[in-house]
Amino acid sequence: KIRTRIAPSPTGFLHLGTARTALFCWAFARHHGGEFILRIEDTDVARSTQEAVDQIVAAMDWLELRYDEGPYYQMQRIERYREVIARMLDEGTAYRCWATPEELDAMREAQRARGENPRYDGRWRPEPGKVLPTPPAHAPVIRFRNPTEGGVSWDDRCKGTITISNAELDDLIIARADATTPDGIGTPTYNFCVVVDDLDMRITHVIRGDDHVNNTPRQINILRALGGEVPVYAHVPMILGPDGDKLSKRHGAVSVLQYRDDGYLPEAMLNYLARLGWSHGDDELFSREQLVQWFDGAHLSKSAAQWDAAKLQWVNAHYIKQADDTRLAALLQPLLAARGQAIDAARLVAMCALFKDRCATLVELADWLGMYAAPAVPSEADLAQHVPVTVRPALKALRDRLAACAWDKAAIAAEMKAVLGEFGLKMPQLAPAVRVLVCGRAQTPSIDAVLALFERDEVLHRLQSV
Ligand code: GLU
Repeated sequence: KIRTRIAPSPTGFLHLGTARTALFCWAFARHHGGEFILRIEDTDVARSTQEAVDQIVAAMDWLELRYDEGPYYQMQRIERYREVIARMLDEGTAYRCWATPEELDAMREAQRARGENPRYDGRWRPEPGKVLPTPPAHAPVIRFRNPTEGGVSWDDRCKGTITISNAELDDLIIARADATTPDGIGTPTYNFCVVVDDLDMRITHVIRGDDHVNNTPRQINILRALGGEVPVYAHVPMILGPDGDKLSKRHGAVSVLQYRDDGYLPEAMLNYLARLGWSHGDDELFSREQLVQWFDGAHLSKSAAQWDAAKLQWVNAHYIKQADDTRLAALLQPLLAARGQAIDAARLVAMCALFKDRCATLVELADWLGMYAAPAVPSEADLAQHVPVTVRPALKALRDRLAACAWDKAAIAAEMKAVLGEFGLKMPQLAPAVRVLVCGRAQTPSIDAVLALFERDEVLHRLQSV
């Protein structure tokens, strides 16, 4: 059974790049009827917070990336890691090293002076026939006994075949020298925990950012030493900002939930993120179901994807247009509430239907609806341009007619037409004047439809200002 995982470190919000990786892991698992796991890599205790975990979970929820297991927490698995290390010490695949940082600095200095690449020289590595120094009193680190012969090779689903010679890898520290327990095993290190987790959680496919490529050969070696099966790896390229640098705050929001708050729909976000580093022919717009159907792990891009805010807006506009009006209304309520505005539910649904075609985000939609919730204040320039004295008698007549007619789009349209006939005006003279006075702007959707969504008295009141 296919099992994938997303393993964020809870040191901040869910970053767009991590969300994209999570999406790939999720879609791949779903495509194969497999399982998707959430693992919280919180061993950096100083920087990890519960708030960040909550944010990550909330962002995954919002995108509906449902995980089948988890969240697992590495900090709750420390005993397990230590148990594995104890076994490795027994089996001889790990050993204690008492070299002090000062000693190691001197060692590297000497290596550099000889023109060599600095690497741990194996001074505490047991070998047959080798006599090791007497252990000093301080606590040791524990190192993995990396093979010295041969190499590591894997067929990366993104990068192609990658081969690293073991001669380039030294003996990785798998536990720090901070042991407080009688077994003398200190805090396990990140690269080691990942391996034990992937093994215990029976992960078959590791899809992650390509900033982890360098960790992979070491992780594979440890995995082999533990008798585990090596998963398939896919190291997906970074997301870049428009200037070609790694996407960061400098380029705009990089937190998934910020996009929710900025008025993006989760299906738009999902669709857009999926296209960053993956493609299915020329398809740009597709549903969650189509993504799952198509996402078989092929067509992952080798090169970095570039963030394109304008395209995301375009995708979002598409989904807003398609969205059910009742749902849009429900999503708008909190946005309006945050602005101290309230519009009754039934009316709000009709407004969403009328305005959604012209909005790239829900925030823009809320901006439109502001005129229904609070008095619109026309600019002096709009008043001068669109409400000249010549049109005022017609506006007064229209106001009188609107006070008496039925209150719906058709009736309002009929009264406007009657006024045009009466005063010998054209619609482009009357409609902008009404718009500016009632809506505070010269352009809106069809004015009869816009007016019908106001309370009649409110329209009469706003027209009275002429
Ligand atoms: N915790 C790592 C990160 O946030 C993920 C490691 C992995 O996927 O193996 O980058």
